[in-house]
Amino acid sequence: MIKLKKKKILLLPGDGIGPEVTDEVKKIINWFNDKKSLGFETDEELVGGCSYDKHGTPITDEVFYKALESGVIMLGAVGGPKWESVEFDKKPERALLKLRKELKLFANLRPAICFKQLVDASTLKPEIISGLDIMIVRELTGGVYFGEPRGIKPIENGERKGVNTHTYTSSEIVRVARIAFDLARKRSNKVISCEKSNVMEAGQLWKEEVQALHDKDYKDVNLDHMLADNCAMQLVRNPKQFDVILTDNLFGDMLSDEASMLTGSLGLLPSASLGAKNKDGDMRAMYEPIHGSAPDIAGKGIANPIASVLSFAMALRYSLDLDKEAEVLEKAVQDVLNDGLRTKDILSEGMKEVSTSQMGDAIISKLQ
Ligand code: NAD
Repeated sequence: MIKLKKKKILLLPGDGIGPEVTDEVKKIINWFNDKKSLGFETDEELVGGCSYDKHGTPITDEVFYKALESGVIMLGAVGGPKWESVEFDKKPERALLKLRKELKLFANLRPAICFKQLVDASTLKPEIISGLDIMIVRELTGGVYFGEPRGIKPIENGERKGVNTHTYTSSEIVRVARIAFDLARKRSNKVISCEKSNVMEAGQLWKEEVQALHDKDYKDVNLDHMLADNCAMQLVRNPKQFDVILTDNLFGDMLSDEASMLTGSLGLLPSASLGAKNKDGDMRAMYEPIHGSAPDIAGKGIANPIASVLSFAMALRYSLDLDKEAEVLEKAVQDVLNDGLRTKDILSEGMKEVSTSQMGDAIISKLQ
């Protein structure tokens, strides 16, 4: 059994803009170590396409072992056109799926927050999204992306058949629902659970298990159920009706992308993938921006590092029990935006354009 080191941070910058945005997180970790003596221990390794180029695999056993003993994994992004023709099992994204699955990171938390300074960046009307603050809790290690049987096989008449299996057990549903209810208690105390119980048995089980857990342990939290297709529609119609949305892997993939794009700011949104707590109350967790490796802007020094920085704020809050430091870091980001500093992706008239590293430095100057 590998012992988890709570304060060990494994940096996996990855490909494309991943290393550029992770550099800014490194500066912030160093700042907390130097100024606040928080004693973070960091290590850095290759993952994704860069690991494939050097080692012929998107993640080596050595890096995977390091991930197992690290309390916090900070991922940049992986992938890009360079590796599109690589065989399926060696694709950069396989490293992420392996980390999520093997580290049992079953709960994916994706906030969709509309920064008041960037209301105009959304395609929706300001009054619909101003003040928006939703947390989507997506089940990450079960459902149709992992269910067996799966595959493509030949059938009669020269046709082929593609199969994936949508499957959930009670315990898989209950453990992720618990995370959603616990989070709701720290927010506006409201969970909306989404499935397709009208047409899927696994959805019916989802609804029943969530309701049963609520009635047993979380009666104080408001719980509603909503069909996932209705949720997709309601997110555009009236997103502020939501606080915590709990959903499965497949629907969560789509609903969280939809919710994040409501805010119009891909470069600003963080995410966390959490595992179960051990007997000491510690857990494995991986934090990453929701955006990809952005090959179109890689190497230009214009990537927005805020999503990565806010991912580290989530790590401070959820893995390191440093709520106050998380708030300070989030406030520093707000202050920089209030000062009118913008990377190219969120630049608007009258604002000052800054590079990736200037944005990181500005956040640190606000921390001071
Ligand atoms: P993307 O998120 O990389 O980029 C979409 C658009 O948003 C691009 O125009 C890009 O320039 C812009 N953008 C993204 N992040 C930005 C930032 N921080 N600052 C400024 N602009 C930013 O999505 P894509 O183009 O669909 O995917 C590119 C590659 O990333 C693909 O290989 C994909 O598989 C991979 N990907 C990886 C992850 C991950 O590592 N978790 C997630 C999504 C996509």
